[in-house]
Amino acid sequence: MPAVTVEDMSSLAKLQVEGDVQSKEPVIITNAPSGFEGEGFPVRRAFAGVPLHLLDPFVHMDQMGEVDYAPGEPKGTPWHPHRGFETVTYMIDGTFEHRDSTGGGGLITNGDTQWMTAGAGILHIERPPETLVASGGLFHGIQLWVNLPSAAKMVPPKYQDIRAGRLGLMASPDGGALVRLIAGRIGETAGPGSTHTPITMVHVSLSAGSRLVVPWDRTFNALAYGLAGSGSVGPTGAALASGQLSVLGEGDAVELRAAAKPDGSSETFEVLLLGGRPINEPVAHYGPFVMNTSDEIAQAFEDFRRGRMGTIPPT
Ligand code: MN
Repeated sequence: MPAVTVEDMSSLAKLQVEGDVQSKEPVIITNAPSGFEGEGFPVRRAFAGVPLHLLDPFVHMDQMGEVDYAPGEPKGTPWHPHRGFETVTYMIDGTFEHRDSTGGGGLITNGDTQWMTAGAGILHIERPPETLVASGGLFHGIQLWVNLPSAAKMVPPKYQDIRAGRLGLMASPDGGALVRLIAGRIGETAGPGSTHTPITMVHVSLSAGSRLVVPWDRTFNALAYGLAGSGSVGPTGAALASGQLSVLGEGDAVELRAAAKPDGSSETFEVLLLGGRPINEPVAHYGPFVMNTSDEIAQAFEDFRRGRMGTIPPT
């Protein structure tokens, strides 16, 4: 599990939680169904079955893999459009290559994040590079869709390339848990991702038996998704395993514990924590577009058809 790892946890800032905190209880825990995306790469639909108002400001999330490809197997997506939201692709293992109709793009690998604000419209393609298709290998990542408020849905497209080395890193007081901040702020530490809608996006790794308490903005929602291994969430220790999403309730902290013994699938309990300030607007989501009304969805299809979201650049 490359992502970003740290040899000497004592060198990191400690995530101290001062005074009394109210640790959030899970409201619901769901199992993410498996499916296929693009040209047929395996995903788990992390938010399937969860009411949209509990996810707000997030709309959709796929866990891509984890899969160990044989040579020739790695797959991506064809060219496709987006409008009205931001796609955040975080690679844990493996490499993904992105190109878009504005000329943006690049290679992300092992802990890098690509943050694409689709805004008014963009075409892009996401695929493993040719060398990885030839070699096969591990592939594991996340694609998260962050909604844009109506006032920002038609902003010009923007691309942020966030290298793994820029993530904000912290450790639990006993060094048993590593906290990687991709976006948002926890205590004095800030993540590099810049968003229209305030959010917190964190990848944590807990060693066997360790406990982590993360202070959480009360005005943000809170979601915990198990990426690998197993453990529990909340003050009463509700079980959470890989492929499960927990929507958390009121409180000002998120509490996680790793199982006392690793479950054989992973040495660590890997969790993605997400939160954001709800946008509280109607959501019309169809295919690659996330707007406020069905008329705006129809307009998006029309604009895409007429080439108003850009065109595929020459190779
Ligand atoms: Mn896409």
